Amino acid sequence: MIEGLLIGAYAVGSKECFIYVRGEYETSISLLRNAVKQAEERGLCGDVKIKVVSGAGAYVCGEGTAIVNSLEGVRGEPRLKPPSMAVAGLHQKPTVVNNVETFAVIPEIINKGADWFGSIGAEKFPGTKLMCLSGDICNKVCVEVPTDATLRDVVEGFGDGVPGGKKLKALQLGGSSCGFVKPEQLDTPVDFDSIRSIGASLGSGAVYALDETRNVVDILLEIAKFYKHESCGKCTPCREGTMRIVELMEKLAAGQGTKGDIELLKSLAGYMQKSCFCPLGQSALTAFMSALKLFPEDFEAKLRKEA
Ligand code: SF4
Repeated sequence: MIEGLLIGAYAVGSKECFIYVRGEYETSISLLRNAVKQAEERGLCGDVKIKVVSGAGAYVCGEGTAIVNSLEGVRGEPRLKPPSMAVAGLHQKPTVVNNVETFAVIPEIINKGADWFGSIGAEKFPGTKLMCLSGDICNKVCVEVPTDATLRDVVEGFGDGVPGGKKLKALQLGGSSCGFVKPEQLDTPVDFDSIRSIGASLGSGAVYALDETRNVVDILLEIAKFYKHESCGKCTPCREGTMRIVELMEKLAAGQGTKGDIELLKSLAGYMQKSCFCPLGQSALTAFMSALKLFPEDFEAKLRKEA
């Protein structure tokens, strides 16, 4: 990844690189700092400075403009675009912001050639994807798979399936801002086109498994609490909306919800999708909308029983 970063810096004529890591990942931060020190000591960096920066632990700092704000030492909030990062990014200078997965693959492509890279995985989206397995799964691991591997290869091959002999109910694919897929969709390859064709999203490569005993409403409540905590507070629809979502989800999860609450959440989803400033708020109810479509019976089971 450091080599890819240096190649990227050379390509755009930059002398300053930053690797931004969420503050909680102390081991990664210390390993990266050590790797950068070793590269510098061996004279591999030339006059390019690489700094490993520990963020304060904000989900929204996965957004490019919020990272740049955080690097400048101000609040990690997204900026209004335009201008784009390529025009005015860090300290108002043109800035390239990329995921580490992208930088890590650059040296391999340069060493082995584009044809070699093009021969790995799916034809239209060649290469590999990091997938991170969590939830009700035997092996909670992070694996790198070619893009023609299927979700079944990932979940059953690497994850070793669901513990306790239980059946898989669903996967939340791509992270908490994404929707769910059902077990009958497990034979879908993990390239962007195929995943999109089943109405899902690959997102960050996160794969969260739910076993058959779960009610999806309980999972949605946890997601809602996460969004309320992570909302940076810059814009009203997200700051207020994420609080209202938690209230409604708490009511539903406690078996006290009504059909009217579900309708309210649906209208909130449309409103937040249109009016929130950044993708965090815009996608705060994506998982809810997906769950409502795929598992209406879970919501039905949680509605208040009228006396
Ligand atoms: S949508 Fe949420 S996270 Fe994004 S700017 Fe608005 S308050 Fe901040």
